Amino acid sequence: MGTRVEINLDKPTGNFWIDNGLVVLADLMGEGIFELDEIRNCLHTKLIQKTGNKGEYWDQETGQVKEYEKSNWKYPANLFIKVAGKPQKIKCSDGNTYFKGAPTFELKMSFGKRGHCDICGDQNYLEDAKQWMFPFVVDPGKFANFYSDLKRGMKLCPRCAVSGLAGYHGLLWSSQATNAMHIFIFHTDLREMLRLRQEVFDPLSLTQQKGGNVPVAFFGPYVHEITLGLLLELFSYIRKSDGLPQEARDYLANLLGASETSLALPLSMYTITGIRGQSFDMHSLEEFSRLRDFYMLYKSWITTLGRDNPENGLKEIFRQFYKREGNRDNTLWRDKIAWAVLEFGDPLPFAEQFLYEVRAKQEKPGPLAWGTEDILEKYTKEVLEMEQQLLDVLKDFGHSLGRKAQENREMGLLYSLRNAKNPEEFYRVLNDMQFRLGMTIPEDLLIMEKAERIMNNPWVRVKTLLSIYAMNAYLRSEQKPRKEATNEPA
Ligand SMILES: [Zn+2]
Repeated sequence: MGTRVEINLDKPTGNFWIDNGLVVLADLMGEGIFELDEIRNCLHTKLIQKTGNKGEYWDQETGQVKEYEKSNWKYPANLFIKVAGKPQKIKCSDGNTYFKGAPTFELKMSFGKRGHCDICGDQNYLEDAKQWMFPFVVDPGKFANFYSDLKRGMKLCPRCAVSGLAGYHGLLWSSQATNAMHIFIFHTDLREMLRLRQEVFDPLSLTQQKGGNVPVAFFGPYVHEITLGLLLELFSYIRKSDGLPQEARDYLANLLGASETSLALPLSMYTITGIRGQSFDMHSLEEFSRLRDFYMLYKSWITTLGRDNPENGLKEIFRQFYKREGNRDNTLWRDKIAWAVLEFGDPLPFAEQFLYEVRAKQEKPGPLAWGTEDILEKYTKEVLEMEQQLLDVLKDFGHSLGRKAQENREMGLLYSLRNAKNPEEFYRVLNDMQFRLGMTIPEDLLIMEKAERIMNNPWVRVKTLLSIYAMNAYLRSEQKPRKEATNEPA
């Protein structure tokens, strides 16, 4: 009797890669005890595909050259597994060298000595797993010494070894040019993960396999923008009737904490980005476990935007933070803003930087996408806890400032405001504006409290928001004919 493996979703290992593989196996074969060979054969059909190309081999029985269909590892396994089936070669009477038989790709595993499995700790016969086979068997926290860790090799029991291989089939991925991202959604309850896979990700799988198997709102080389791109896309399905059936949408909403009967266990997401090439060059691995909090924020943004298709509006708002440079898009600002909102930090400095360094300097400068100010305002109020009163003051004053500056062709004044490095400079610039644009500074802004705060906010946040409103109004006025601009509400 050969080696047997138990597929049991009640026995997770806690490693996100291996557990994902276990879910894949349960999806493919069901739960129970199976012969190792049976599992391996099943994985073989999932991980290896025909390339459509033909090769030749020497058929020893007939003494003739025969054709065979070439195979290769399926993406993304081919980024990591480089072993090709290579039978012996033979030099024939026609002077050419041929394979002695059609090459076959094998999922080789040989279980040797008994010991404790590196992943689950079980006593069993162990496979000396090679680095290329299990590239993601790593704790996010241990990412730094990932390579050195694996150089000594890992010892895996049969269950963890086949699950590691199956993990390739459970990856969500998306790729453009040489950039690739791989995502695992992870839930500590593996049955929930199986359901998520069957009800949500399988129906969403893109038919066109070239660019990925999961849709994203936007794509770039950085980990946070891609994470945000996936979440905005995924969340948008909860309300849309096309794409997912009602039951799946309800389930997804429930999993994300949208309803009162929400599951108690948290959902995490691991995003891995890197460059495709001879071997995958991994750039970063991020764990994101505040999916529910972020979904709540998403919902409040959708309510704020209102209108017909706020989901798309929101995608456009975040998509805009990039710059075309030659034949590539520089998406650094988008990544920084995505990082800030996913971490519930402060995205305003990055939005300000984008507005002043990219938008205002474009050949045809234009304001930020419709709704951007509303989204930033909502965020500043809910996450950064700025009071509505101050927000209103900053918006009114910022908009008039921008329009006045545009009428007087004083864009330089806005840059001085943006560049203010301390409260003294900030007030000096405001004074200057008062004088040159004939404007009165709202009193609320003039009261500096302890620890350099204005109405209980760090002065620099107040400055940043004001400079965003002002420059955006400047660019908006510039885009419109003068007459229309003066009629525009604040
Ligand atoms: Zn194990």
